[in-house]
Amino acid sequence: MDFRLDAMDAAPLPRALATEAVHAGREDLAGLGLHAPPLDLSTTYPSYDSRGEAARIDAFAAEGAEPDGPPVYARLGNPTVSRFEKALATLEGTESAVAFASGMAALTAVLLARLGDGLRHVVAVRPLYGCSDHLLTAGALGSEVTWVDPAGIADAIRPETGLIMIESPANPTLAELDVRAIAHSCGSVPLLVDNTFATPVLQRPVESGARLVLHSATKYLGGHGDVLGGVVACDEAFARKLRQVRFATGGVLHPFAGYLLLRGLATLPVRVKAASATAAQLAERLAADPRVSRVHYPRIGGGMVAFEVTGEPHELIAAVRLITPAVSLGSVDTLIQHPASISHRIVDAGDRRSAGVSDKLLRLSVGLEDVEDLWQDLDQALGPVRTSGREGRTTAVAEA
Ligand SMILES: *Cc1c(COP(=O)(O)O)cnc(C)c1O
Repeated sequence: MDFRLDAMDAAPLPRALATEAVHAGREDLAGLGLHAPPLDLSTTYPSYDSRGEAARIDAFAAEGAEPDGPPVYARLGNPTVSRFEKALATLEGTESAVAFASGMAALTAVLLARLGDGLRHVVAVRPLYGCSDHLLTAGALGSEVTWVDPAGIADAIRPETGLIMIESPANPTLAELDVRAIAHSCGSVPLLVDNTFATPVLQRPVESGARLVLHSATKYLGGHGDVLGGVVACDEAFARKLRQVRFATGGVLHPFAGYLLLRGLATLPVRVKAASATAAQLAERLAADPRVSRVHYPRIGGGMVAFEVTGEPHELIAAVRLITPAVSLGSVDTLIQHPASISHRIVDAGDRRSAGVSDKLLRLSVGLEDVEDLWQDLDQALGPVRTSGREGRTTAVAEA
């Protein structure tokens, strides 16, 4: 008993990520007499106190803080979605998080929040996910982009620069950037890191100086290929702007999607670790294979492998049997796709190639199947070893 009292006197220990993944956003459930989080599908909430509602709406319009008291209307906020937001903020180590209908809706809200402050210029490093590249390049929201190498970020910053955007490991090449060094070169301009591939299990960009962390929650956070969503983890000041943009533009996450994403977070550390172990083995086997000319596998690990084939990538896509030939990633089943044809098709071919997305590149999202079954499928889909077409330039995993 003494030992328990001592423990209670000590400052509370920070809980491990695996523990937070299961408990964050659910702390009040036992007190409510519940085990599973409630799914609140209400679009509106009855109130006999319209003076009180007016005050809450005024406060939201002025501040963007989550309204106190009972919810008002589903576009202002939803209790199930806010559980997911709290949990993700805990995992990323940020004050707040704001969820959206998709990853692209989340990026749109970030851009609109900056445009609202008169900051229309974005500095970004390629490659980014194809549609993020497209949104910035097309300037559809009224922003303007300067594409640079990491070393060119500081020089590209102008007075009207409102955002610097990177992905690491990047989609689809898995190129890794030094987030801490980049954050340093951003000065006071917010750095947005798309952390979709790494997840907070492998990398927490805020600890390296990023101000905004974006996820396509559709991928690893959901983890089962059945929910579309996006989320930005950040400080509460930026979150308030994002909530106001979300209220005004309507790109909200559906409560059922919020429920599934919260459920997905509980198994995120286990899924990412299992997929990483299998992906690392597959990357090694691919790197040693004469039918493969290059393999990219990140130093931080993860479930994604990118590789270039000596043969025809479309033939491999047509030949897989266990692996699912589909765009997207981060699901329990293994997916493969050809970025030049699908995920990065919308990027101009010249820009795509100069960002390292070659026409021979394939992107593999490793799931939770047995490694031998996956290798057997890849092996048969790679086709016969061509004695004449051997390039013998296989890049070792460690160098990739
Ligand atoms: C898929 C993806 C997005 C876009 O997310 P959606 O949920 O499809 O809108 C953004 N960034 C990365 C890295 C992605 O893989």
